[in-house]
Amino acid sequence: MSEVFKQIVSHCKEYGYIFQSSEIYDGLAAAYDYGPYGVLLKNNIREYWWKSMVQLHDNISGLDAAIFMHPETWKASGHVDAFNDPLIDNKDSKKRYRADVLIEEYIEKIRGKVDKEVSKAARRFGSDFVEEKFKKEHPRVSGYLQKIEAVRAEMARCMTEGDLQGLGKLINELEIADPASGSRNWTEVRQFNLMFSTQLGSVAGKEEKLYLRPETAQGIFVNFLNVANTTRARIPFGIAQTGKAFRNEIIARQFIFRMREFEQMEMQYFVRPGQEMEWYNYWKEFRMKWHLALGTPMEKLRYHDHDNLAHYANAAVDIEFEFPFGFKELEGIHSRTDFDLKRHQEFSGKKLQYFDSEINESYVPYVVETSIGLDRMFLALLSQAYQEDEVPDSEGKSSKRLVLKLPPALAPVKCAVLPLVKNKPELTQKATEIFNDLRYSFDCQYDEKDTIGRRYRRQDAIGTPYCVTVDFDSLEDNAVTIRERDTLEQHRIPIAEVEKVVREKTSMYHLLKKL
Ligand code: ATP
Repeated sequence: MSEVFKQIVSHCKEYGYIFQSSEIYDGLAAAYDYGPYGVLLKNNIREYWWKSMVQLHDNISGLDAAIFMHPETWKASGHVDAFNDPLIDNKDSKKRYRADVLIEEYIEKIRGKVDKEVSKAARRFGSDFVEEKFKKEHPRVSGYLQKIEAVRAEMARCMTEGDLQGLGKLINELEIADPASGSRNWTEVRQFNLMFSTQLGSVAGKEEKLYLRPETAQGIFVNFLNVANTTRARIPFGIAQTGKAFRNEIIARQFIFRMREFEQMEMQYFVRPGQEMEWYNYWKEFRMKWHLALGTPMEKLRYHDHDNLAHYANAAVDIEFEFPFGFKELEGIHSRTDFDLKRHQEFSGKKLQYFDSEINESYVPYVVETSIGLDRMFLALLSQAYQEDEVPDSEGKSSKRLVLKLPPALAPVKCAVLPLVKNKPELTQKATEIFNDLRYSFDCQYDEKDTIGRRYRRQDAIGTPYCVTVDFDSLEDNAVTIRERDTLEQHRIPIAEVEKVVREKTSMYHLLKKL
């Protein structure tokens, strides 16, 4: 784990964002609990997603389907037969890995070498440098790129054809070593189904196997007609849902990046067959805009087209974010064809067709989906917001501060109300009055412990965008000092305006307006 990633993890714990699940029993791997600030941030991210998808699109409606579904659902969706990851064990370290992830990490390493050579040459040649030409003509770099292509193609072939032996052979040929121990003593590659199961009913011998849903999408597919009929939706239309999903991940070592219980925010968009690529491109762009509106710099985001398409998809792209451990998938946009609805039609015996009055035809719609992990989004936001900078202390000397520069609309606490000193009832009473009024409008905090400097630091560490300080002048002029987290600017404003100013600056309105 990189140093900065470790710091983020410990910051999350220290400031009540995220705790290890069942920590007093030494924790449970890959399960996490969201603390007092974590739950607020998570709710705000979910709200931003929901409003941007449901509220801003008049043809998208919401749904909250059960986690348990009829077991046939998962046969129809292909998850019982094909929701597998290829796993490989190292015989010396006894550690288990995903074979495809080991190969991808190998590719990333070579890509790192290419990037290094490119930036070295760019520095050397200055304005004469043409990157594409250099990559083609430089023998070592073009060799690296050919290698990447060859490995990628072979991995894609193995994954698509389910060629486990081929994956194992590739790992051995590339001499990939166990990242933990350096050993190359590998077992064969085996398939591992990622679904958790449990039983329904208590009559011995009559239990029926149930699965915990590994994605929220299927709840939407089986309700497709219910929603279409009750909302009188006309194609194209979408159904959006957020909720827990469960996957028995083989490796789950990157904090909340990969968990066994996590939350997804998914939207399925039902379109006329043949029009799916148009909508695929629309959603690809819209979702990138959603990320950029948060102030995430473009360099931290990129598209990554899938090399090996899932059994149901005819086009798929990931939006990747540069986490502290490199670029990784944050969100997927998939064109799923009519695969799911057709399969549910087949397995349930019920017609899942839509009558398109514009062309006077009934058909099974095609589906374009957007699917993002709420927890992964949380980690992306935190890793970008977590910063250490220098600020002047009370004596004007420069001192370090830890600050979470979260987008104000998503910050857990919007405003902290702080009496300048603690033991002055006139001040604490005035501050309490302001706080008691503001809490009706947004999440707000009252704090009178410690020096004012320390309280500012604490609010910075939590990510509170505004602090309002009540001092002795406030008793006379009915005004307070409002301090802005990122610029540290301080202004004097009338108490009567605090609610309006903070609401205006932290409202989700501006974020949504950018879309
Ligand atoms: P990965 O390749 O990282 O396993 P995936 O391609 O299987 O992800 P999807 O099935 O496309 O993921 O799921 C959609 C989104 O759900 C992902 O983009 C990710 O944000 C989130 N997600 C998937 N698995 C997990 C997990 N184990 N923990 C947290 N979030 C997850």
